[in-house]
Amino acid sequence: MRKKLLKLVFCLTAFTVNLFAQINVVATLPWIGDIAKQIGKEKLSITVLVKTSQDPHYVEAKPSLIIAARKADILMYNGLDLEIGYLPVIIESSKNPNIQPGRPGNFDCSKFVSPIEKPTSVDRSMGDIHPLGNPHYHFSPLNVLKVAQGMTETLVKIDPQNENYYRKNYQEFYKKLQEKISEWKSKNLSGKKFVAYHTLFSYLANDFGFQIVGCIEAKPGIPPSSGEIKKIIDTINNTKPDAILVNVYSPKKPVEFVAGKTGLKTILVPHDVGSLPQTQDWFSFMDKVITLLSEG
Ligand SMILES: [Zn+2]
Repeated sequence: MRKKLLKLVFCLTAFTVNLFAQINVVATLPWIGDIAKQIGKEKLSITVLVKTSQDPHYVEAKPSLIIAARKADILMYNGLDLEIGYLPVIIESSKNPNIQPGRPGNFDCSKFVSPIEKPTSVDRSMGDIHPLGNPHYHFSPLNVLKVAQGMTETLVKIDPQNENYYRKNYQEFYKKLQEKISEWKSKNLSGKKFVAYHTLFSYLANDFGFQIVGCIEAKPGIPPSSGEIKKIIDTINNTKPDAILVNVYSPKKPVEFVAGKTGLKTILVPHDVGSLPQTQDWFSFMDKVITLLSEG
């Protein structure tokens, strides 16, 4: 009898644990972690690998990141080789079968988007950090919507008992995004012109009809030569943009030099969720970006 009781208690405990178990999501970037949170809410336990102050192009495969990846049910990443410098090492060293390439738990967000600015030829020895096209599509509402849809399908596959929950959250996300797109479009960015340090804003410019007339960093990831600096100063003088767009990790020297020579103001724009105040989720991040640019 005692044995039977113990068995019953064990079964109940196991059932309870299973019922409330969360899916472990490891996301490389803050915006990815936030979209996952909006679709999975309390059903997910989310760890983000890259800090909000960090340059996402250059991240070290630290042991703490490998440990985090070890317990992941799903690894979600930006793709387009943005994480090429550290993620393959993390995936391999984690020895976690769930997140190996080809498994449902290896979730490449870029599979759902159409990359722009694909280079015609890439020489990695030259340091090109966008070899598969521009990886900064998280500034594009419609691309992020496609990623959210892809995440929903993957969560349903991995955790089918909560299918209705994930689908309901996706519908809420979809509805909020439609409202926000109208709000953002009403800020009327079309016709504006900017110079950026890095090609962060190309998707945003395409979606909202403004122009990036040039970048101080002529080739992504490669510090500008004096010739390239001169060229961008000429471009600024010829096209009269509204401002230079920089982010928290942009090198200060070349930006200050160009601003000093042209008299152009700089605007500090968040590069990801949480990188500046009032950007605690993807919607408020986009609110901040659009407001800064429309007022700039
Ligand atoms: Zn980049």
